Parts: sequence; C-alpha cells; structure tokens
Amino acid sequence: MYERMFGVDVTTESSDDTIRRIFSRHQNDEKSFIVAINPEKLMKSRKDPELREILNKATIGIPDGIGVLLASRLRGGNIRARITGVDMMELLCKEAGIQSVPVFLYGAKPGVAAKAAHNLQAQFPNLQVAGTLDGYVKDEEEIITTINNSGAKILFVALGSPTQENFIIRNMDKLNVSVFQGVGGSFDVFSG
Ligand code: UDP
Repeated sequence: MYERMFGVDVTTESSDDTIRRIFSRHQNDEKSFIVAINPEKLMKSRKDPELREILNKATIGIPDGIGVLLASRLRGGNIRARITGVDMMELLCKEAGIQSVPVFLYGAKPGVAAKAAHNLQAQFPNLQVAGTLDGYVKDEEEIITTINNSGAKILFVALGSPTQENFIIRNMDKLNVSVFQGVGGSFDVFSG
C-alpha cells in the first residue's frame, strides 16, 4: 500500500487505484487528506520532525517527482509512476464530474481560483464548482463557513507548503468535506 521513505509514507498505488480508493472512502463518509510528496519535502523532513509529522497526517502521500521514484528504486522499492499534485487534482476533478461530487477551490491570488475553476469546467463539463476563495482572506471562521455553506465535498487548498497542510489538519473536523488536497501552485497552472 505504501512505502516509508525517510520517515514519510508514500503510496505505491497507481493513480487510478488511488482515485478509486478516495471515492470509495467518500461514499463511506471517511475523510481523506492527500499530500504530494516531492524530493524537496522529503529532504526537509529528514531534519524537521514537525514537517514529518504534518506529512504523515495525510491519508495518502503521492509520489510527486522523479527524485522520489529514483530513491524508491535505489532502495529496492516499488514506486514506479509519478503522480504530481496537478495530475491528482485533474483526476479528482474528472471523477468528481462523473460522480457529481461538488468541489471548492481555496487559495492563490485574487481571481486565480475562479479562473482555474472556469478552465477546469471547460475541460470537464459536468464538474460542479461549489465555490472559490482567494488565499489572502484572513478570517478563518469566515472561510470555514463559506466552504461549508457551499456544499462542496472535495476541497483543494493552494496556500503553499506547509501552510496548506496545516490549514487542512487544523480544520478537517470542522469542514463538512470528505476529500482534502494541498495543491501548492496548481491553481496558477490551471488558470494559465
Ligand atoms: N498563497 C496564498 N496565500 C498565502 C501565500 C501563498 O494563497 O498567504 C498561494 C500563492 O499565491 C500560490 C500558492 O499559494 O498560488 C503557493 O504556490 P507554491 O508553488 O509556492 O507552493 P509550494 O511549492 O510552496 O507548495
């Protein structure tokens, strides 16, 4: 299921299996927290137990980077396919469209999340975007209320690492959402 690399768990599943697992957890009302593990985060976490703890709070760590694959191969591990945060977000949106599960985009500079949402809806016409919010709103209670009132079940958080992971960990129980993904600069990619 996963491989422990420098103290951090990284999934050995394919992206298809990961998507299947996330949606079946959603159907069973189990929350999932997805974090992209890149070589930079792995190296930092070796000397930073706090970061290691944050990364290990995730339900699924995806192998984001050739360096992670290489390290796995050198250690005799099984991780063979890279899954970037952008890829995972795209796959989640595709399946969310098929299964009619509404998504919310929170983070990045004003206007970026809305533009990214617009482009994703053009790519996946059945995708329901319940709402967007930029990453510079300060009132956390207001953010939580907005997301909960939207009815979204999948939340993408683009605040940079580890701010986005900390936001998710702090608020997972308060949010009426089942799938959480910290996506770094992905909204900037989708809005372009
Ligand atoms: N960001 C934000 N609020 C903040 C700081 C950053 O919304 O207070 C956004 C920023 O606009 C960018 C993303 O977080 O869209 C960070 O992207 P980056 O590629 O730096 O992520 P990292 O690689 O650090 O995870």
